[in-house]
Amino acid sequence: MNAVYLDHNATTPVADVVLEAMLPYLRQHYGNAASRQTFGTLALRAIDQAREQVAQAVGVRPVQVIFTSGGTEANNLFVAGAAACLRPSQIGVSAIEHPCIAKPAAALARQGWTCRRIAVDRDGCLDREDLEAALSHQTGIVSVMLANNETGTLQPVARAAERARSQGTVTHTDAVQALGKVPLDFGKLGVDAMTLSAHKIYGPKGAGALIVDKRLQLRPMLLGGGHERGMRSGTLNVPAIVGFGAACELAVARLADMSRRMRALRDRLEAGLQELGAVIFGARAERLPNTTYFALHGIEGETLVVEMDRAGYAVASGAACSSASPEPSATLVAMGVDAELARGAVRVSLGDSTTAAEVEGFLGSLQRTAQRLRGLAAVTA
Ligand code: PLP
Repeated sequence: MNAVYLDHNATTPVADVVLEAMLPYLRQHYGNAASRQTFGTLALRAIDQAREQVAQAVGVRPVQVIFTSGGTEANNLFVAGAAACLRPSQIGVSAIEHPCIAKPAAALARQGWTCRRIAVDRDGCLDREDLEAALSHQTGIVSVMLANNETGTLQPVARAAERARSQGTVTHTDAVQALGKVPLDFGKLGVDAMTLSAHKIYGPKGAGALIVDKRLQLRPMLLGGGHERGMRSGTLNVPAIVGFGAACELAVARLADMSRRMRALRDRLEAGLQELGAVIFGARAERLPNTTYFALHGIEGETLVVEMDRAGYAVASGAACSSASPEPSATLVAMGVDAELARGAVRVSLGDSTTAAEVEGFLGSLQRTAQRLRGLAAVTA
């Protein structure tokens, strides 16, 4: 495939060093990390190293890392597991959370909880007054994502966590999109738990982690052999976890360089988009350096994605995970974006291999495609 991949917030290719680290654990070192013989010991040693690498990337001790099958499982584990240890009250989640927080939070209603969505402003940032209003009711749990997967807006998690914790509320952040793109320090955020995923940082699909504070009470969701200190039973996916560890090390090593490069390319992209009259969502907010979410008036996002794919550029419309749904993005609706404009939303997320030439090529192709689509619309009107 010669297509230019500009959808790195959906997933990333596995980096060469990550693949190299994984291969021995798919080939010769295929032992079960729970087995006591040499095969098992070798696998366990690799898990221990990966645990160190993940812990180092976010400034925690290895014992605070609970490996899961990815971000979805870690988010579900947190919501269900923390709620099970508390008396039912209110759970507050930002209105722009990924469905793997929003849905388990809403599902807590079955156990007597009330789910309160905390508003965001027009730029997609958490509304502080609404956070205060939410906290004025008895709130057992608050979860606010660190970076939004669609707009890339960064959320004031440290401030929200400080405020929530001061009244004994358990706090969590979904940092899946932030890892590898902005500096990440669990202690500085001051949350009780944090979610990570490997496949957004040039690691493999099928590995992630819930990082926990030692005081957090959590009931496991998966019961069985008692892996991960009883918090997540199930034979450890050794190659994927090894890859996750290597990807974390890589992410830390190249963070400064990557974010500088991404920002320069993103700024050029957005200047070009503005020349085409695009609306850039969350433009005034502090955002991830690689993410641009935009719409061109009168052009459906879905159509644009299909046409740009034909032209050789892979981008996403709305949230990648829900692109089968014709509904406008829930994030944009929460930001108060008009539904028709929201239906035009297209996300470009740059990655380590993106070049200036690709960005220029994308802009040129977008201009031609938009002209053609508008021409067709005028003929059929
Ligand atoms: N949280 C956010 C913000 C995401 O963007 C995603 C994936 O798109 C997830 C969680 C889910 O992670 P995973 O794909 O590892 O289950």
